[in-house]
Amino acid sequence: MKNLLDFTKDELGEFVKPAFRAKQIYEWIYKKNVDSFDEMLNLPKDLRQDLSQNFYFDPLKVVKSEKSKDGSIKYLFALKDGKTIESVLLPMKDEERADDGKIVSHARYTVCVSSQVGCKMGCSFCLTAKGGFVRNLTAGEIVEQVHFIKKINKIPYERRVNIVYMGMGEPLNNLENVAKAIKIFTDNDGLAISPRRQTVSTSGLSSQIKKLGEMNLGVLLAISLHAVNDELRQELMPINKAYNIASIMDAIREFPSDMRKRVMFEYLMMHSVNDSLKDAKTLVKLLHGIKAKVNLIYFNPHEGSIYKRPLKENMEKFRDFLQSKSVTCTIRESKGIDISAACGQLKERSENKI
Ligand code: SAH
Ligand code: SF4
Repeated sequence: MKNLLDFTKDELGEFVKPAFRAKQIYEWIYKKNVDSFDEMLNLPKDLRQDLSQNFYFDPLKVVKSEKSKDGSIKYLFALKDGKTIESVLLPMKDEERADDGKIVSHARYTVCVSSQVGCKMGCSFCLTAKGGFVRNLTAGEIVEQVHFIKKINKIPYERRVNIVYMGMGEPLNNLENVAKAIKIFTDNDGLAISPRRQTVSTSGLSSQIKKLGEMNLGVLLAISLHAVNDELRQELMPINKAYNIASIMDAIREFPSDMRKRVMFEYLMMHSVNDSLKDAKTLVKLLHGIKAKVNLIYFNPHEGSIYKRPLKENMEKFRDFLQSKSVTCTIRESKGIDISAACGQLKERSENKI
């Protein structure tokens, strides 16, 4: 049996003839949210039977979910083999209504998806790293996180959500399946989410950044930088030994030009580790010639972590310095901080029954 969600429409078209049947199946699954082949009424009965003998499309199982005060909802999902992953629904903007009750602008959402069960990268600040690597997610398991979250939260089909690959795992360490998921998300008969609304976040696997660029998928790139010199960066992120900062910058310079213009740099601030003005100065030099947007993130402490949450004033000084040098910079308050915000934390707490 195969997971139907693992298939691009073209691939599906090779199983079901004539190929327009693939479009119909896509619409049933992604637009009409049916639960079984029997409900796909415009397919001939024998095709429905044939499909149900070869394919499945099961919803994810919610092991646990937590809603934060700021409205974000974090899910711990069980996959078919019982392994668990996290995904988060982040409301970015509330619905706005005029005095007469008419909707002026719709609510906006971002879904943060996982790309692997666990992660190989071993970053010292990250809880996902602690459990080691278990396996890659298939394209369908990535796609279902967004499809299922939209469905259970009754987010209308027409509301396009943004997707960030910032959950558990290193997406560029599972590039083949992530690229496939991006294509499936993008399909107009599927969820129809433009690649411009999808951001792949990476710890900096330079060779894979190049490959992603060559694929020309049109997705945006976020680099988890977190340190401005190789010495500190390799202490925090062992992958820096294989791919140092200079190699990441080179890979970005080779990225297709329209996407290169909007590269985001994530900078996880940890108290007294990487939050000085000296770091800010080095960062400005590093980003010279790159049209970057820097996102400063509050480190979210977890059980056993040796790092501390940065002081607000240090965050602001850091941001102000960057801005004074014309580097776009925003501070991101970890959403859902009261529900174990950073990825990996719901899973850990669930397993330890805290
Ligand atoms: N592996 C990819 C994507 C997943 S991690 C990457 O590293 O970019 C997504 C983000 O969560 C990264 O920027 C990571 O630095 C951040 N993160 C990890 N642990 C965190 C913590 N304790 N507090 C806040 N953010 C954290
Ligand atoms: Fe993996 Fe990203 Fe966590 Fe590093 S920060 S261990 S790359 S998930």
